[in-house]
Amino acid sequence: MPHRRTPYVRTLCVALAALALLPAPAAEARGRAGVAALQVALQQRGLYDGTVHGFADRQTTAAVRDFQRRRRLVVDGIPGPETRAALGRYARFRLGDRPLRMGTRGWDVAALQFLLAWRGFPSGAFDGDFGPRTDAALRAYQHWRGQPADGVVRRQHVRGLRQRPPRAPIALYAPVATQTADRFGPRGSRFHAGLDFPAGRGAAVLAARGGVVLFAGWDSGGFGNLVVVRHRRGVTTWYAHLTRVRVRPGERVGRGARVGTVGSTGLATGPHLHFEARLRGAAVDPLTALR
Ligand SMILES: [Zn+2]
Repeated sequence: MPHRRTPYVRTLCVALAALALLPAPAAEARGRAGVAALQVALQQRGLYDGTVHGFADRQTTAAVRDFQRRRRLVVDGIPGPETRAALGRYARFRLGDRPLRMGTRGWDVAALQFLLAWRGFPSGAFDGDFGPRTDAALRAYQHWRGQPADGVVRRQHVRGLRQRPPRAPIALYAPVATQTADRFGPRGSRFHAGLDFPAGRGAAVLAARGGVVLFAGWDSGGFGNLVVVRHRRGVTTWYAHLTRVRVRPGERVGRGARVGTVGSTGLATGPHLHFEARLRGAAVDPLTALR
């Protein structure tokens, strides 16, 4: 009785379609560093204006085709050896082919920036240029790993960079009673190292877990009014863009204590809470810890 099965099949298809539209859980949604490096190259040629997420999606493939058409290559959308060669010096080295340090530039540097960001050490825009911000991010990462913080990436470091990013080892609770909007991950040509909770100005911001206030005040780096709370096991939580700060450094706060109110101070386009979790300084995806 095939007609009886139709509603079920249709329901399943709708469910599958909905699943396809949903972003994968943030911790699993990492793209590939090589594809990210390709997206940077295409972006710099004005062929790609999407997010540098490392997925070879339709927009990326279309940009590759545009590039191939311009260079009169075989137009297949696949960045094979000829396409890479046509990208010139930028695409000459893959990550691990040569030591990377301040002043180097190219595909491998863009791949490094992408991997560092996912490991909790973003360095500004993904641009393939190893400048002071990449240097600082790399040294912080090396320190975090217990390696000599010499600012040089060698072949033997590449495997560690490709490992699964760390997670917060303790449970956290939502700091604002709303759904999240922007998640942890690439956004445009940068990396969003936290979770955004859109909420009205003045909405209560609650400690995601008990701890001690490490910082409470103005951050000139763009966070505006900021509270940082230190928890167990090397975890800190960061509450940014607040209108008001309700706690003082050194104060002990319980889980759910009000630490401030939602605002848009610092570099923010509208009222929301920018929330970060860091593990010994590395930004981790708060969604993997939120209960
Ligand atoms: Zn944010």
